[in-house]
Amino acid sequence: MIRKSILVYLLCLLTVCWMPAAENSYDSLVKAVAGNDALEGETLEYFLRLTPPLLQYLDHASGRKLNKSLANVHSVSDLKRALDREIGPDWIDFGEELFDFFTPCDSLEKNGEARSMETAHFILSFLTGTRAEQDIDFLAANAEKSFAAIAATIGGSLEAPMRFLKNSGEAGQDKRKIAVFFHGNKQAMQQRTKSNGLGITNFGATIDDEQSVRLTCEINVVYTNPFALAIVAHEVAHAALLLGSFKLEAIQGNKIEGQKGLAKAFFAGYRRIPAFLQEGIGDHAAYYQGFLGKWPLLPDIGQLLRPVLGSGSYIPLEQLIDAHPAIVVKKHKYFSLLAASFIDFLIQEYGVGKMRAWLLAGNEKGRETFASIYGEDVRAVEKKWLASLT
Ligand SMILES: [Zn+2]
Repeated sequence: MIRKSILVYLLCLLTVCWMPAAENSYDSLVKAVAGNDALEGETLEYFLRLTPPLLQYLDHASGRKLNKSLANVHSVSDLKRALDREIGPDWIDFGEELFDFFTPCDSLEKNGEARSMETAHFILSFLTGTRAEQDIDFLAANAEKSFAAIAATIGGSLEAPMRFLKNSGEAGQDKRKIAVFFHGNKQAMQQRTKSNGLGITNFGATIDDEQSVRLTCEINVVYTNPFALAIVAHEVAHAALLLGSFKLEAIQGNKIEGQKGLAKAFFAGYRRIPAFLQEGIGDHAAYYQGFLGKWPLLPDIGQLLRPVLGSGSYIPLEQLIDAHPAIVVKKHKYFSLLAASFIDFLIQEYGVGKMRAWLLAGNEKGRETFASIYGEDVRAVEKKWLASLT
């Protein structure tokens, strides 16, 4: 796909099947509730965008129409109570099933024309007639917001690494921006990335016309419903972290010849980050900077994690932090959300400086660097974090 590149693949949400999406009949109910509760600003925007498709999905998941049972719902808290009663306490679950419901797998994108939109740090590419086209302003604003949030977490500006970027996509033309491609279904994503996931970030290096090393960063997302915004935020966070942690002195001013020289320069600059932190920062951007606190229907993270915290499937952090992502993600659905919650606790309690130091420690063995940076072992801090969630 990208010649002369060394790529680091970050596979995120993986899913396999599909269900067709029906017309949404909940728009008017959701608008009425928003009016009654006088929701405004981002809270209103998230509520209007995300709630109707959630209800549509819950119709499907529960096997019945919720319309009747929601007839007496007048406020957000009424709605929460009704869903607790009708569906059960775990009605909110951003699992694979929700994404599958909105993600058709059986038709290729046809007839759409390629379009792109530039923001300060991104070139967003999409096809006409897709959901991404409909939501593009919202997507652009959210991508920039996630990028700024991660920049703040890892220490200020990412403008220096941005200057080394070389776009690899059709819309790129050496704009020194991160390329983002939105796909209307999984086949289109697979054609471009060879990935059967819903989101992927490729980070690598290439050689430009002057034989200088340049970085490449491309995000691909299957965007078929506004919940995929969580994937966009997650992938943008990966991109920002990969760029922000790269040691630019390894490639600065270097004239490179051949693949070997390129690989050597790239891996001299590439900083290893434990998968726990990579994925955790991704979900931190999605939940703490994106949804949480803004979409009034989303329970707090402690509640989202309750099924795993109170069960035998809980994996102690000292194992999770050093675990291989491919193994853990398969076993542990809540892996990245759990990591995000722990990261947020660390930032709140110990400050962003220590988080920055941990992220940039350049060691895949996060447990070792944790103890030296935080002055306590993971197990002791894990206890405090768990206590904060109850
Ligand atoms: Zn990820």
